[in-house]
Amino acid sequence: MRTPLVAGNWKMNGSLAENESLLTALLDGLDRVGKAEIAVCVPYVYIPQVAQMLKGSRVAWGAQDVAKEEQGAFTGEVSASMLRDFQCTYAIVGHSERRSLYGESDELVALKFAAAIEKGLVPILCVGELLEERERGTTEAVVERQLKAVVEHCGIDSFAAAVIAYEPVWAIGTGKTATPRQAQDVHAFIRGWLAEQSETVASEIRILYGGSVKAANAAELFVQDDIDGGLIGGASLNAEEFLKICEAAG
Ligand code: PEP
Repeated sequence: MRTPLVAGNWKMNGSLAENESLLTALLDGLDRVGKAEIAVCVPYVYIPQVAQMLKGSRVAWGAQDVAKEEQGAFTGEVSASMLRDFQCTYAIVGHSERRSLYGESDELVALKFAAAIEKGLVPILCVGELLEERERGTTEAVVERQLKAVVEHCGIDSFAAAVIAYEPVWAIGTGKTATPRQAQDVHAFIRGWLAEQSETVASEIRILYGGSVKAANAAELFVQDDIDGGLIGGASLNAEEFLKICEAAG
């Protein structure tokens, strides 16, 4: 049985004051949430604040990216060990905004995934197709290519310590959510593809859906067989909305 996970991706949002009120409201509402695991992935500079506020709670925290390197002359980068110093559990890798705005290739994403695994961080590997790729009927080929780059570099067993997030790019921050059927079809494809290499990994890995998830549509998505929770952008900045999404998963 896979425990659902709801992870917030704050993106480049927040301030010390805003984070404090958001996390206070989140912590206050947690007894409403059933068995789902909850996490927030926050901008690097706020990790110490978030670690301090969430320490001892059931909410885990993480980063939105991680360097492929471990240490040295890599100006601006933050390594997996540095994130572990602040008890991060998760690091998102390969978010579509990093792939499209910062030119991250499948190969670079695989190296970041490897760096996270090596230091005991759980990578949340984002995969998903552009609108034109869906319209061309290449959704599965795109997702397979993105997964294959990581499997080839890190091996299928590395997925035992990872989470996958299927995020159709056309649904991120656009208000357009994939229908439960569209999402389930891709999740089933991902699980089936993994099962060809390891039945155990395929049955145990959590595959989250991301793309304009809100309180109003979370339940119909999370009830699908192969959807094990969500990666939540915009709606994770509102404690009440995020808590309702966590309730739907729990
Ligand atoms: C995301 O950033 O991963 C995301 C899914 O964003 P949103 O929920 O705002 O679409």
